[in-house]
Amino acid sequence: METLKLNSRGTLVEYLQSLLNTLGFGNLTVDGIFGNKTRDSVLNFQRNFSLVQDGIVGNNTWNKLLLFSYIVPTDVQYGYNILSINLDGLKSKYPFLDIGNIGYSSLGRSIPYIRFGRGQKQVFYSASIHANEYITSILLMKFLENLCAAYEKDSTIFEYRARYLFENVSLYIVPMVNPDGVDLVVGNIEKYLPDIFEYAKNLSNNYPNIPFPNGWKANINGIDLNLQFPALWERAKEIKFSQGYTKPGPRDFVGPRPLFAIESIAMYNFTLSKNFRLILAYHSQGEVIYWKFSNFLPPASYYIGERFSDVSGYALDLTPENSAYAGYKDWFIQNYNRPGYTIEVGMGDNPLSLSEFSKIYNDNIGILVLGMIL
Ligand SMILES: [Zn+2]
Repeated sequence: METLKLNSRGTLVEYLQSLLNTLGFGNLTVDGIFGNKTRDSVLNFQRNFSLVQDGIVGNNTWNKLLLFSYIVPTDVQYGYNILSINLDGLKSKYPFLDIGNIGYSSLGRSIPYIRFGRGQKQVFYSASIHANEYITSILLMKFLENLCAAYEKDSTIFEYRARYLFENVSLYIVPMVNPDGVDLVVGNIEKYLPDIFEYAKNLSNNYPNIPFPNGWKANINGIDLNLQFPALWERAKEIKFSQGYTKPGPRDFVGPRPLFAIESIAMYNFTLSKNFRLILAYHSQGEVIYWKFSNFLPPASYYIGERFSDVSGYALDLTPENSAYAGYKDWFIQNYNRPGYTIEVGMGDNPLSLSEFSKIYNDNIGILVLGMIL
């Protein structure tokens, strides 16, 4: 782990601040800047754990802090680094989880999946196929943490016994389909891979009206991963080209052909290797659930969508024509004729403020549990 000390900056400092707050060693503003107050909290922590009190987070201090790495922070810019820390922490605290990867990102990072449960019924939740929607990664990871805790305590989650869910369902989660894009938005690419940052910035110059990097949804090569699936892709291309998205950039470029981007290929192949009864594709924003693709009417799909709408307060709606093609859920419905949903969480401009998180979690907990049941 990177050593953190006075004047360090970045998402790892945010994580440190959030964790110190959670553990009761500070009341820090989570701003990613290691100042004197952060140093004081580190000193508190070191005193409590009988570590050398130098105010520097090196190996020994990290090792103690990471005893709590199963705790998913909900107030930090959640990049691939923190996702990886949480997955390691969850795996050691909850060895019944299976963790693997569905493939690799354009920058060569593995794209993790987690499996919870041993049941026959397979369901699949994914998040952050769009980079600046990374609050959806936090949502799935916090849900996973709470589900595991409920399993261990033999308690309930949204009135269902976690052990019942574990025995009857195999829940697969891909919490971050687009790790490179997320890292661009949260500042990790600029900090750790400045050449790649310049490369993405050049692509964004094709679209000067889209804020950089906050408006970035695509993968690091400027392809929108949710416009890459073989479900009326040509129609998506016509629409997006007519809107001016003809070149790689921050969003809405469909790519040279379907299944060109390796992250989308990974989702496609992973899906084909399983037998998912239902999928949830998490996006932000709009507080709306999209359930339909073309003229397909998967059995029970509308009924389940209505239940989701009831428990979340989100509207159940038809996908707007401009984004109705070539998405992951579109392809899933077309290929399997089974229920698939795009869920747009929260309200506001992406990336949503993390202060929205608790409302988003409370709105979605019913959907996340019922998705395993219905
Ligand atoms: Zn999206």
